[in-house]
Amino acid sequence: MKTKLNEWGFPIDRMFLAAGPCSAESREQVLECAKALSAGGVSFLRAGIWKPRTRPGSFEGVGLKGLAWMDQARAETGLKIGTEVAEAAHVEACLEYGLDILWVGARTSTNPFSVQAIADALRGTDIPVLVKNPMNADVGLWMGAIERLANAGLTRLGAIHRGFSSELEMRYRNVPNWKVPIELKRRMPELPMICDPSHICGKRDLIPAVAQEALDLLFDGLMLEVHPDPSVALSDAEQQFTPEQFFDLVGKLKLSHEQSDSAAFAARMSELRETVDGLDSQLLEVLSQRMNIVRKMGALKTEQNVSTFQPHRWQEIVADRIAKGTGLDLSEDFVLQLMQSIHEEAIRQQEIRRVDGAE
Ligand code: PEP
Ligand code: MN
Repeated sequence: MKTKLNEWGFPIDRMFLAAGPCSAESREQVLECAKALSAGGVSFLRAGIWKPRTRPGSFEGVGLKGLAWMDQARAETGLKIGTEVAEAAHVEACLEYGLDILWVGARTSTNPFSVQAIADALRGTDIPVLVKNPMNADVGLWMGAIERLANAGLTRLGAIHRGFSSELEMRYRNVPNWKVPIELKRRMPELPMICDPSHICGKRDLIPAVAQEALDLLFDGLMLEVHPDPSVALSDAEQQFTPEQFFDLVGKLKLSHEQSDSAAFAARMSELRETVDGLDSQLLEVLSQRMNIVRKMGALKTEQNVSTFQPHRWQEIVADRIAKGTGLDLSEDFVLQLMQSIHEEAIRQQEIRRVDGAE
């Protein structure tokens, strides 16, 4: 799992670009898209052949014949080709057509049985495989899927961040929840990771900012949905770019680097980081004091048989801290998440004492 995407023989520098339609729909559509994308910089042509749809009755992919269209697109343009596999039969068909790269979709990586079946079908090959995050924000499950493939002997593995399903969030189709891919990167630092802003956003106009954010978070590349005419796309019409829109976006993206050679930058950053370190120490001390008080309150509640959770007090706290926080230039979402996290730990602390019967 040490190989970087740009060492896989793809004609790219750091940036790994996968582009193509959500679904292969017809030979003409696949060829037209591939020809437009072969203009440059695209690592592989993506197209869904078997489409996992939430409800039956919608377009579920063209199946096997789509692989022949992709194979033809490769022969005519020189682009490498990749698709999603969800079961052993898909893997076998893709290996037969000599696909250059495969990915495991978000619904499949949620299920260890399915991932294991795919890993078993891939045993003995070393085709590059990218694993999309599971639908739910579970970094262990995501890692587990990658480990199953690694255990089957695959070495050219990577991850795709495509956001997480959330009923509460209206802006994105799948919330980015960046802390999850950041945590995967911390646990598996050598793993190449690309971002799929199309499935995160669900709408074209949100994609550029998410694509840029992914690059600023040092993702190794992007997978973007591109259709010759998105208005007639059979799936995910609202999130697909035309090839022109795609190249326009790619031209505007900025690649940042983890380090700079400037000595002035290094000096100023280390000064600022020292200040941040000091502030973090103060934060931890304040939090520790707060938890001490919380434990005292927990003991009093236990004595009086008063519930740990106090809904009215919690309402007041949230309203008050959000008002104070936003007055201090902190975002409402951040203050709410911070207070939820503190409150959850406070409840846990009070419950430990209650269950243990300690003072
Ligand atoms: C796709 O890339 O076509 C796809 C279905 O994505 P996901 O598994 O992320 O939903
Ligand atoms: Mn799609």
